Amino acid sequence: MNTLKTSHQRRVTVLVPCYNEAEVLPVLYDALCRVATEEAAYAWDFLFVNDGSRDDTLVVLRRLRQEDARVGYVDLSRNFGKERAMLAGFDYAGGDAVIVMDADMQHPPSLIPQMLRAWEVGYEDVYARRTNRDGDGWLRRRLTHGYYKLLARATRGEVLENVGDFRLLDRRCIEALRQMRETERYTKGMFSWIGFRKKEIPFEVQQRAAGKSSWSYAELVRLAIEGITSYTTAPLRLATWTGLLCALGAFLYMCFFFVKTLVVGDDVQGFPTLIIVILFLGGVQLVSLGIIGEYLGRIFHETKRRPPYLVREVEGAREENTAAN
Ligand code: UDP
Ligand code: MG
Repeated sequence: MNTLKTSHQRRVTVLVPCYNEAEVLPVLYDALCRVATEEAAYAWDFLFVNDGSRDDTLVVLRRLRQEDARVGYVDLSRNFGKERAMLAGFDYAGGDAVIVMDADMQHPPSLIPQMLRAWEVGYEDVYARRTNRDGDGWLRRRLTHGYYKLLARATRGEVLENVGDFRLLDRRCIEALRQMRETERYTKGMFSWIGFRKKEIPFEVQQRAAGKSSWSYAELVRLAIEGITSYTTAPLRLATWTGLLCALGAFLYMCFFFVKTLVVGDDVQGFPTLIIVILFLGGVQLVSLGIIGEYLGRIFHETKRRPPYLVREVEGAREENTAAN
């Protein structure tokens, strides 16, 4: 396959969003250098997006940049979250292919050659699928699994379980993703929405090399809600159905009482039934309101049309092409 190489060297950008990753960055950088040496047929560059880290990440990035011209970085003005950091990376990445990976070495760089082979034969979105989730605890594993089953049903199987953000994207995919400027981003859903020729590669997720995972349970719940509400309006339909069922139940109940009062008369009883029905319906109404509010909030945020991220400093990355803004 390598004999097919033309004189035109194809460029590959490794894109890494970093939030407080000063400790692992040198380790990652070394690993990436090794891959770049192995795959010398390509022109490599490494683009790090500093997502408002509070540790020395930027210092480390500046040093790497000084030592190696292949390193570039985009320094965001504050912490915008991984999803938007990735968008910033898409805007500034210059490669014909972009490989997105985590900074913490949970995504083994040794998988990159395999991804490149798939890209060479024409796949445009080569993603890695975890075959284990060892880094996580039991509860977290169960919750994630349940959530994905739910999401897969709501979205008719378009969001894949155990597929993270470790993937190689062809320039075509990058340009597609750059057009999706929504500020409330759920990139996992976007990857499947854009389509293109996809290929799956299995891998074993590694332990974090250093530092700690920055997702708390609260953030995961927020991400889960965001995932569902940004990708499907099924919950709104669920609210409608629940409402209809309750109304039907209430109607039957009414008929029953009407007949009962006619036949046996009315003695003032039935307080428990009454309170149960009131509380139940109140609960259903509040949940439905909450669901509607969730969507309304998203509309509110999007209508402001704020930029999804702000940049303080860019070094060694492609100039952002503002066509998509
Ligand atoms: N990350 C980021 N901004 C954030 C949180 C995380 O850019 O606000 C980056 C982080 O530096 C890492 C990747 O996203 O490169 C995945 O984060 P983490 O390892 O904390 O997540 P997990 O592996 O637990 O899903
Ligand atoms: Mg991680």
